[in-house]
Amino acid sequence: MKEPLIFELSKSGRKGYTLPKLDVEAKPIEDLIPSKLLRKESPHLPELNETEVVRHFVRLSELNYHVDHGFYPLGSCTMKYNPKVNEDVARLPGFLEIHPFQPERTVQGALRLMKELEEYLAEISGMDAVTLQPAAGAHGELTSMMIVRRYHEKQGNPRKIVLIPDSAHGTNPASVTLAGYQAKTIKSNERGLVNIEELKKHLNEDVAAFMVTNPNTLGLFESEIVKISELVHSVGALMYMDGANLNALLGYVRPGDIGFDVMHFNLHKTFSTPHGGGGPGSGPVGVKKHLEPFLPVPRIVEKDGKLALSYDFPDSIGKVHAFYGNFDVMVKAYTYIRMMGPDGLKRVAEAAVINANYLLALLKSAYKVAYDRFCMHEFVLTGRPFKKFGVRTLDIAKRLLDYGFHAPTIYFPLIVSEALMIEPTETETKETLEAFADALLKIAQEAKENPELLHEAPHNTPVRRLNDAYAAKNLDVRWKPPEKAED
Ligand SMILES: *Cc1c(COP(=O)(O)O)cnc(C)c1O
Repeated sequence: MKEPLIFELSKSGRKGYTLPKLDVEAKPIEDLIPSKLLRKESPHLPELNETEVVRHFVRLSELNYHVDHGFYPLGSCTMKYNPKVNEDVARLPGFLEIHPFQPERTVQGALRLMKELEEYLAEISGMDAVTLQPAAGAHGELTSMMIVRRYHEKQGNPRKIVLIPDSAHGTNPASVTLAGYQAKTIKSNERGLVNIEELKKHLNEDVAAFMVTNPNTLGLFESEIVKISELVHSVGALMYMDGANLNALLGYVRPGDIGFDVMHFNLHKTFSTPHGGGGPGSGPVGVKKHLEPFLPVPRIVEKDGKLALSYDFPDSIGKVHAFYGNFDVMVKAYTYIRMMGPDGLKRVAEAAVINANYLLALLKSAYKVAYDRFCMHEFVLTGRPFKKFGVRTLDIAKRLLDYGFHAPTIYFPLIVSEALMIEPTETETKETLEAFADALLKIAQEAKENPELLHEAPHNTPVRRLNDAYAAKNLDVRWKPPEKAED
């Protein structure tokens, strides 16, 4: 299982390419490139033949764990299966080979797709207008907070504070701070929901918005959300929904119908576009009518049946992304929504919630549930009962790798100690959920009988337990040739 670096496989003089015969007069490189731009020594490029290159990368790809390989129960991340038809459509030359500098009349189809996607998201969420520009959920949060600020400025006072429940994702306070607001925490109540008495104490004319995730990161629906919205609106503040958990609500609850003024979507979670490799995401923002003038430009407008990108929105917060956002992600999300249709999207939410509750029922006997209620699309367990055997949640997560599963999200949300946050998603079978539960139940047994086994896990993976912080603290991205390498 140990795969060397490609540089270590290199043998001087080996090559995997054939160049055509030169059909012009040969010239020394110095005649073609100014000498001050020329390298003094040749770059350290690996030298291999084609077979070796192919095998190297295929072997590396086999070491990878991904959603096409196995179950990926990361809570809050919605690691659902990404239908391959999305990829097929995104690779159509008409989508793949266009350029953002092309004249608008030559990209009417792309603009139409974006416009329709905006309309679908508005319909799904009960919002009045949508921008597709932000590149991720966190970026959507920041964009939304800039919109909130612009709205309050227009009312004469930008205000100072944004309230956030203590169960919130870390990006929430970060986005608030970047937008120039002060984040203030609202403690949850004993049911894991927003504590309304606590909220009332903090509500005043300095509050710009309340940022709520619904269902929240404990997988619980904020059942008092309408009352909360009324309270927040009564001091002139806005309701923001972190829509990362929209998967649980599709077709059942529209944020725009329960009092939210602005929200973000994660196309790479709810709408089944690939993520997890750091790679392009999309975090559209939806707003109600009163916030529409502040949306980022350009916006897609229609005139005489022709679509165009318009900058003619004087109150807009401006641009938040190069060009118009991550277009390929939009194509995939659009395809997914069209393939599912309204009824299909509704079944997504149903199956996601049923799967989570089934898995919760299987695990309840061995693991303590942080807030033991009917859950939405995810739930949070705690590894606290295993502390007395000297076993921590991290050990349980590492041991899961030996059983061939990706670990769930751990140590989040912060209000649950030794948290294990599990989101199965709707695309997993009963058998997969049962196999995963079996592994976790076996691990619970091992924790009691053989804690050492867990401390040293994982045992069967290509690398064992790594120092999480070493690479970040000792960043070194330069490759050194083996003879010069010091370590
Ligand atoms: C994933 C997530 C975010 C951030 O979204 P990114 O696309 O990763 O930036 C925010 N809030 C919650 C609840 C999330 O799960």
